[in-house]
Amino acid sequence: MAWETVIGLEIHAQLATRSKIFSGASTAYGAPPNTQACAVDLGLPGVLPVLNAEVVRMAAKFGLATHSTVARRSVFARKNYFYPDLPKGYQISQFELPVVQSGHLDIDLEDGTSKRIGITRAHLEEDAGKSLHEDFHGETGIDLNRAGTPLLEIVSEPDLRSAGEAVAYMKKIHTLVRYLEICDGNMQEGSFRCDANVSVRPVGQEAYGTRAEIKNINSFRFVERAINFEVERQIELLEGGATVVQETRLYDADRQETRPMRSKEEANDYRYFPDPDLLPLELDAAFIDAVAATLPELPDARRDRFSHDYGLSRYDAGVLTASRELADFFEQTVENAGGEGKLSANWVMGELAGRLNKEGREITASPVSPALLGGLLRRISDGTISGKIAKQVFEAIWAGEGDADTIIERKGLKQITDSGAIEQSVRDVLAANPGQVEQYKGGQEKLLGFFVGQVMKVTQGKANPGEVNKILKRLLLE
Ligand code: ADP
Ligand code: MG
Repeated sequence: MAWETVIGLEIHAQLATRSKIFSGASTAYGAPPNTQACAVDLGLPGVLPVLNAEVVRMAAKFGLATHSTVARRSVFARKNYFYPDLPKGYQISQFELPVVQSGHLDIDLEDGTSKRIGITRAHLEEDAGKSLHEDFHGETGIDLNRAGTPLLEIVSEPDLRSAGEAVAYMKKIHTLVRYLEICDGNMQEGSFRCDANVSVRPVGQEAYGTRAEIKNINSFRFVERAINFEVERQIELLEGGATVVQETRLYDADRQETRPMRSKEEANDYRYFPDPDLLPLELDAAFIDAVAATLPELPDARRDRFSHDYGLSRYDAGVLTASRELADFFEQTVENAGGEGKLSANWVMGELAGRLNKEGREITASPVSPALLGGLLRRISDGTISGKIAKQVFEAIWAGEGDADTIIERKGLKQITDSGAIEQSVRDVLAANPGQVEQYKGGQEKLLGFFVGQVMKVTQGKANPGEVNKILKRLLLE
């Protein structure tokens, strides 16, 4: 039987505010345990939560960027459960009326088409603390610095049909929240993580199968592996005549498998109810308009503009707009390269990206600035140097030896465009290789490449390749 995979993701994006969602305590990462949890985060008696206005602006930004409805009225609710890292005994979240409702996002598929994924809702909530098991022999340590950290939980429709689609969707949301500057996207620090709901059904069947929910996955690679493992597990169960149990599972990255955490029967009844300490959140049109005015150019629009303005393929434009920093770098390079879009794209995605990758550097830490790279590309496009020599110059710029013009001058790398000089070199090469000349004239036209290579060798790569080809062809006809 053929099976179809059905996936819905719940993504937790930590909102990049300086203080917590309901208190003034700092959200800075990495502070000593329990130094950033105030009376409100601990839920001590007699304190009241006060909503951080910035998280509302951030949630509204996300809603507007995903064609969602930013609710004029939403409600905070208490989600009740007991856990050591939750001293209040409840988490403040949104339940029936979330601040962001029914939007969508388009993802690009491998076959070049795009697909629309529904966003059911996005709601504001506070994070819990953290249980620490290492370093505490037989005991558990509790760090409440995280308690009260603002989260936006983004829930998708079950529209994803493979692990690949799920990863594409997650990456797209990751790109978007960073463009919007509402989340730093740092997955190692837990600022961006997801729960994957996975089920399978026979191809052609309309009703969804029973799903399992895999909790807290914090890397794109793990999302893909966890889903693939889970799909295989469910298919095996069903084909063996068993059933899938609705349950929460954990992904174990070391063993590359998922295993049960708690079943539906053990699942908590959260007894949600509106939090009496917080007023309903009411937003007026003026507020929403003001937020709309702060939206930057969004990734999709920027990709389409790059593709149109610079003549790039949709794929390349997508790569260059995957982060705001990279897109900015590219555009500044084009400006410095005298408008050479295609050439700039090739160098940013090729030589530069390769070099950065090799040294594990981010684009923001590139020793070759857009001005330096643009200056180099200018010398390619005006014929001062060939593309090959340019790589040599690039290395020198990377090493901090100066700008392109300085390096070209100092190392004498200027391209030989004087056709008289090139013709002399071509004649020398032909005279030194009479055998190959015979073969060429006998029909072995592939030898042209050999001659070009020889001319480049004697000119140390400095001859203009177009000119070399032209002169070679002419002289070989003699
Ligand atoms: P819960 O509140 O129990 O987490 P929801 O109904 O809110 O459940 O759904 C949570 C996520 O599960 C959503 O992203 C949704 O798209 C996804 N989902 C729901 N049903 C299925 C299913 N049968 N297979 C896969 N994903 C599903
Ligand atoms: Mg859930």
